[in-house]
Amino acid sequence: MELGDSKLRAVRVLGQGTFGRVFLCHQNGVRGQPDRKVCVKRIIVRNPKTELGLIKEEVYIISQLRHPHIVEFLRSFSHAGTVNIVMEYVPNGTLRDVIQQLPSGTGGVHQERLLRYFRDMVVGLEYLHIRCVIHRDIKPENMLLDANDRVKIADFGIANVHAPSTQLQAGMGTPMYMAPEAMSSQGRVDFKSDVWSLGLVLYELCLGRSPFAAFLDKNATPAVLHTVVQTLVRPRLDCQLIRRLYDPVWAQVCELMVVYEQERRICLPDIFHLDARMTVALYKQYFSYSY
Ligand code: ADP
Ligand code: MG
Repeated sequence: MELGDSKLRAVRVLGQGTFGRVFLCHQNGVRGQPDRKVCVKRIIVRNPKTELGLIKEEVYIISQLRHPHIVEFLRSFSHAGTVNIVMEYVPNGTLRDVIQQLPSGTGGVHQERLLRYFRDMVVGLEYLHIRCVIHRDIKPENMLLDANDRVKIADFGIANVHAPSTQLQAGMGTPMYMAPEAMSSQGRVDFKSDVWSLGLVLYELCLGRSPFAAFLDKNATPAVLHTVVQTLVRPRLDCQLIRRLYDPVWAQVCELMVVYEQERRICLPDIFHLDARMTVALYKQYFSYSY
């Protein structure tokens, strides 16, 4: 497969995205650096007039970010009707794989691992929010795992800089993780919309399934999902099972994140101070960065 860059050789397809493919590639050494594996996200431009502006946003956003828990941008190039984003290869799959591999009926990931994943995601997301980036598509398949089982947040395809903004356009985002305000025409997506989605990822890591999955089929429309969500999270999401399996703080965090009304939903900084052990764990992460 010719990607249009003589230094890159496609090894295999890693993912089939909405707008193109994601490849694992071998990259011949550039500027005196050794050969390495990289990941290339190839976006096919079908309608330049409407799409190029959006793709530019994705490239711009990811090119500005540098953080241990955000996938690292290396460069981008265009070739034969495609835009290609070259980024670090994150080798150990995604949190979707972790969830799928959980033995059924025995709860979710081990508490220690849960804390590690959660704090990686919280700290990575906080970095985005401080830079006024709303990710808008937080879900297990966009959480990559590196060789040390640490999370790197990926996929800035529909992220939005300098937002809050209005709800997502039709067809964007994954309905299952979409916050209620993103589903309603009067809603305003903001930083707390990512908190909602992260709360659902946490729930799924604890119990191996989304709280809404049993009530939805694959083709459920956002309107149906909205009704299911309203029914299940008002007045509050039932996290009793998490309470039984894990330290009580996890059920508490989940209940505070998956809250229907944005004003009542916890904000990211407050998660740091919910519980003394959580505070220590999150701050420990903070002071041990190495770039
Ligand atoms: P889409 O917008 O199509 O969802 P993503 O950027 O999320 O595109 O990539 C699709 C899939 O490809 C991801 O779910 C993941 O499995 C894989 N992938 C993406 N980026 C990387 C990477 N840097 N390293 C390894 N795998 C990746
Ligand atoms: Mg994705």
